[in-house]
Amino acid sequence: MQSKITIAIQRKGRLFESSKKLLIKSGINFSTSGEKLLARSSNMDIDILLVRDDDIPSLVSKGVADLGIVGQNVLAEQAATNRQITAKSILKLGFSKCKLAFAKPLNSKLRSLKNKTIATSYPALVKKYLSKNNINADVIKINGSVELTPYIGIADCICDLVSSGATLDANNLIEFKTLMESEAVLISTVESKKISQINIINLIKRFEGVINAAESKYVMLNAQSNAIDKICKLLPGADSPTIIPLQKDNKVAIHALCKEPVFWETMEKLKSNGASSILVLPVEKILN
Ligand code: ATP
Ligand code: ZN
Repeated sequence: MQSKITIAIQRKGRLFESSKKLLIKSGINFSTSGEKLLARSSNMDIDILLVRDDDIPSLVSKGVADLGIVGQNVLAEQAATNRQITAKSILKLGFSKCKLAFAKPLNSKLRSLKNKTIATSYPALVKKYLSKNNINADVIKINGSVELTPYIGIADCICDLVSSGATLDANNLIEFKTLMESEAVLISTVESKKISQINIINLIKRFEGVINAAESKYVMLNAQSNAIDKICKLLPGADSPTIIPLQKDNKVAIHALCKEPVFWETMEKLKSNGASSILVLPVEKILN
């Protein structure tokens, strides 16, 4: 008998919607309502723990959950302070992309971090960065509203998460150095290749299938036979297109799975190289 899989995801916040969407697109039916902390899948032997994102690395490290979805920033900060955090990222999920960056007030003359005071919710990562770069500076830990600290005189600059930059703009701050890029990741205490539970292996393959499909497009077009090579070279991230002869005019249909974005510019280039009736279709799932 296969044992049950437990997955920890964020209950509310920036990771929740995309984490839920990934599980549902992977075929796990479940519903989350109200203050529920545990959701049981109705069609698979899977429990979903709905928790704060900060608790996810330790729930997975302690074995309470087999898998978890969390930002690389949270995992890295916790792993840098606590040796009991043994969970590692096993798959990048492509959502909740942001970066941990240093920022200073627009009118600040600050040129280096040397001897400055930095306010952050990520003190371990900032201290690691400073020691790696031999910079002597003070780090103060602030849990929320880090953006205010330079204005109330407790810090010269901050190190905080930035995605669009709108929060920095709204607080008259300007970013000047990136400490790390981050996105949501799937975490486990066991490396992907060493996972022995077949139902977990299959579930990770489904996650990969959903992530790959999100970026992939299926392209269909018609072309003269003598343009096949030129056109195939223009198809972004396509391994081996299918060529099907058309009944008339020495023409072929070319079908390809493009694993990279297909922009209007690409389509225009295909057209100017002799392609016609170009269709770009979304791909829902891929199983390699
Ligand atoms: P919780 O209540 O679960 O502790 P939280 O307030 O700590 O939630 P959120 O603000 O929901 O966390 O952010 C969760 C994660 O989303 C972050 O750790 C980060 O990986 C990612 N993220 C993406 N963009 C941003 C951003 N602009 N600001 C903050 N986090 C972001
Ligand atoms: Zn949190």
